[in-house]
Amino acid sequence: MTAVLDVRDASKRYPGGVVALDDVSVTIEPGELVGIVGPSGSGKSTLLNLMGTLDRPSTGTVTLDGTDVSTLDDRALSTLRGRRLGFVFQQFHLTDGLTAAENVATGLLYAGVARKRRKPLALEALDRVGLGHRAEHRSHQLSGGERQRVAIARALVNDPSLVLADEPTGALDSVNGNAVLELLTRLNAEGTTIAVITHDRDIAARLPRRVELRDGRIVADSTEGSR
Ligand code: ADP
Repeated sequence: MTAVLDVRDASKRYPGGVVALDDVSVTIEPGELVGIVGPSGSGKSTLLNLMGTLDRPSTGTVTLDGTDVSTLDDRALSTLRGRRLGFVFQQFHLTDGLTAAENVATGLLYAGVARKRRKPLALEALDRVGLGHRAEHRSHQLSGGERQRVAIARALVNDPSLVLADEPTGALDSVNGNAVLELLTRLNAEGTTIAVITHDRDIAARLPRRVELRDGRIVADSTEGSR
């Protein structure tokens, strides 16, 4: 089986000499739910940017669905990203003036999906996150927890190979945070491969696999039962 994502011997040096990642290797297989865990400054965002093909490593490789992304120009890379990855952000990043369905449909803009197919796919994705009945609400009419579920629907609408969720519960109270984590767990059980980036050890403890970063290096990669 081809790995969904393979980050191999990747280092990232920022101008000024900061080594944000130092020889990091992570492989994510189809069907996994994995936490990328570590304190502030450990390199999580830097690794997320490499995994999301938003930045390139100084050395090492990133392979998404079997394609070494360093072989692609920016345009081909955006196409691959648009088709194979879904992103969820701490602050949801919904567009205020749009309805939930319209927000979700924006997840299809770069996927080459015909305009008339977008709305039905968006409604289907909203149903998957339990928000079919909120499809015509604008985002300011939704609670924080609902907004994050819309954002998750937007990440899923394109049936991506991998969903990257960056501190997805960070802006939510514990009840809504738990609901979002439960939703991600259910979507994973239904077949979606998901990586959750978090500094929160309680969140991390509830994920079946945890890759732990410290000072730009992986210090542990543990699966359930191995702690
Ligand atoms: P985390 O997401 O775990 O907080 P980051 O990946 O943001 O960690 O940062 C890792 C290290 O790289 C930190 O020391 C940070 O200060 C540094 N860093 C991050 N981005 C940049 C940048 N654009 N330029 C220089 N240093 C950076």
